[in-house]
Amino acid sequence: MSGFFETPIEFLKGVGPQKAILLSKELKIFTYGDLIQHYPFRYEDRTKFYSIGQLDASMPNVQVIGKVRHLEVVGSPRKRRLVVYLKDDTGEIELVWFKGIDWIKKKILPGVEYVVFGKPNVFGRKINLAHPEIEVLATFNKDKGHLQPVYSTTEVLKKKYLDSKGIAKLQKSLLETAISRIRETLPQNLLGEFNLTSKQEAVKQIHFPVQLEALQTAQFRLKFEELFYIQLRLLKLKITRLDKFKGFVFDNADLLNDFYKNHLPFDLTNAQKRVIKEVYRDMRSSSQMNRLLQGDVGSGKTIVAFICMLIAVGAGKQTAMMAPTEILAIQHYQGLKDYANKMGLRIALLTRSTKTAERRIIHDYLKSGELHIIVGTHALIEDKVQFKELGLAVVDEQHRFGVAQRSKLWQKNKNIYPHVLVMTATPIPRTLAMTLYGDLDISTIDELPAGRKPIKTTHSYDSNRLKVNGFIKDQISQGRQIYIVYPLIEESEKLDLKHLMDGYESACRAFPNVPISIVHGKMKSEAKDFEMNRFVNGETKIMVATTVIEVGVNVPNASVMIIENAERFGLAQLHQLRGRVGRGADQSYCVLISSYKLSKEARVRIETMVRTNNGFEIADTDLKLRGPGDLMGTQQSGALDLLIADLGKDGKILQTARQAAQALLTDDPDLEKLENKNVRQQIESMSKTVINWSRIS
Ligand code: ADP
Ligand code: MG
Repeated sequence: MSGFFETPIEFLKGVGPQKAILLSKELKIFTYGDLIQHYPFRYEDRTKFYSIGQLDASMPNVQVIGKVRHLEVVGSPRKRRLVVYLKDDTGEIELVWFKGIDWIKKKILPGVEYVVFGKPNVFGRKINLAHPEIEVLATFNKDKGHLQPVYSTTEVLKKKYLDSKGIAKLQKSLLETAISRIRETLPQNLLGEFNLTSKQEAVKQIHFPVQLEALQTAQFRLKFEELFYIQLRLLKLKITRLDKFKGFVFDNADLLNDFYKNHLPFDLTNAQKRVIKEVYRDMRSSSQMNRLLQGDVGSGKTIVAFICMLIAVGAGKQTAMMAPTEILAIQHYQGLKDYANKMGLRIALLTRSTKTAERRIIHDYLKSGELHIIVGTHALIEDKVQFKELGLAVVDEQHRFGVAQRSKLWQKNKNIYPHVLVMTATPIPRTLAMTLYGDLDISTIDELPAGRKPIKTTHSYDSNRLKVNGFIKDQISQGRQIYIVYPLIEESEKLDLKHLMDGYESACRAFPNVPISIVHGKMKSEAKDFEMNRFVNGETKIMVATTVIEVGVNVPNASVMIIENAERFGLAQLHQLRGRVGRGADQSYCVLISSYKLSKEARVRIETMVRTNNGFEIADTDLKLRGPGDLMGTQQSGALDLLIADLGKDGKILQTARQAAQALLTDDPDLEKLENKNVRQQIESMSKTVINWSRIS
């Protein structure tokens, strides 16, 4: 039965060997099954007709009926265009063609009524439709009046008549024979419980919906199915891990208690306490822990990580913390060193820059077990680095480590995998976390330490610079320090550097008696460190910099973050930058400066920053603006190539699908029950396909 869907696409009527090659190259359509799953990405509503007077340029494609008053070819010979004047009782528009003029001219007759479909634009003060679809009203097929599928295609395919319409034709002819062979992939009770339409009906409606409601029903069903199977597989992975991978049992809390009683520098927040409990429960459970810890900038992840380390060290094992960059590794090392010293634990830093002699000592001490905590970069996963016994690996990941690298850290032990705590500094929207880390347990620090004053964020235009300067002066006179950040992207590096230097000079002019530092990526690292240190020590009051300061500086006295050209930064980056202030006791401020001209998205980004300090809310907006692939970087986007579901929009369906998958596995962990037979089959057939979910763990 499944054989049918694996039939090479070239055998479909209307395809043949040449088009088959193009379809596979351009759209990765190799088989009948691939074509059926090439769902429309939108639909055109041909049920509605507008009157000409209603049209304006903000509308998407519209359909109108009108009579041709006149037509003419205008313009110079090289820039010829055909203009057709179409009118109804409410007004007149122009239809314009730049290509195929002679052919179209013959088809259109004055005095005849046509149905026209296209996108309204304004030219001068008139509305026109360029290259619209046009048909004589008298022969217009009213049956076509429903939602028409629009398929993604490419320029190459269009030249071979495989534009959206061409693909729709193929779909139609394939579905005739295919539809009855599509088998149900979800168990009967789920269909009933969630009111899902059958797979056959859904596939039919997704391509050629009879009306909007049927389309929505089909979309829901297919999205549910897609997300259900992703979650089912992730949850199965998790069950397998808990079953198969035994973990160290750490149930000695002496060190932890000692730290709590004698060295804790502040009261932990409830969220911190809860997370520590969750981790401790895992580490005692005899299964290997694989937990994601997420918390916003400044939520206090470092001390939580340290306390978790104490659980492992208290049981006589070692711990490692791996960070994606050297700056971050150093930052973590400095954060942990104070705590470790207080507890009399030995800690070291290992990065690419560690000198050979020192490196050798570190290697020895790790092997002998004398070193309790190691902090470092990728250098940690080199084969030369061997532990006596690694009890807990903390990975600060920010989506930069591949799973292969993470699992290398696991394999540092011969017999039992270490417990793993993955930390993310940028909050991940729930839907993404559930999909990318769905087989991990998740802990969230959703509370900032008490007494933090929320950062006040405002938006200013370039023209208000004087006012902003006045504010800066005022803050400096109160003893505060200021960051002024400029964007730097590689494509326009030279220009950006010039902006930065101009900014530095105008700051020097505006604040003549204030010492100012400047730091950017083109400086030698000694010079950079020197300037950075002057600012950290408070010698300079203003730091003019590019985003190099995004991570790695902690200056509690800096209370103002000015971001120039704020429209050019992404949301996550703006949030990270803002996180550089608000670290001390004073009220902190963030000022986003932009030009008047803002794209719609830039405006949303800036408004979001002004509205909220909540990293999760910001991450959600970011997901909606950019889509999951961009958000996570290309590395993991393969895992997010969804056919139909959209993690930015379908959070509710995802939630429901995950719960359903969980319930099914609780009831039937090995999918042995008769009623789950098609679930089992589906999982098996999916394991053969390209996406390799095991790389996400
Ligand atoms: P992040 O989660 O961004 O890594 P850090 O661990 O660097 O945050 O913590 C930010 C700052 O907050 C540090 O100076 C840390 O000492 C402090 N901090 C952490 N937890 C608390 C708490 N419960 N009460 C007060 N200050 C805290
Ligand atoms: Mg941190």
